[in-house]
Amino acid sequence: MSLQELVGSIADPVEREHAASVFRHAVARRLRAAEAASGPRIIRAAKRCPSCRTEKLVAEFGRNGARPDGLQSVCRACR
Ligand SMILES: [Zn+2]
Repeated sequence: MSLQELVGSIADPVEREHAASVFRHAVARRLRAAEAASGPRIIRAAKRCPSCRTEKLVAEFGRNGARPDGLQSVCRACR
């Protein structure tokens, strides 16, 4: 179960919104760390999923050589 699925499984809306906020902050921290570690040669460490409308690490997207960026359009969780 991913963190996001865990967040989605929380029944109480206030608790769920809090958990989602914590999750978004954790993702943002990971993105900044990944960008800092990868240096300027990596153009993008993150990609926005149009399905869940969330900015995610490119590792969260499957590979698709037919697409210009080489990644699936939606994240693994949404496929
Ligand atoms: Zn998604």
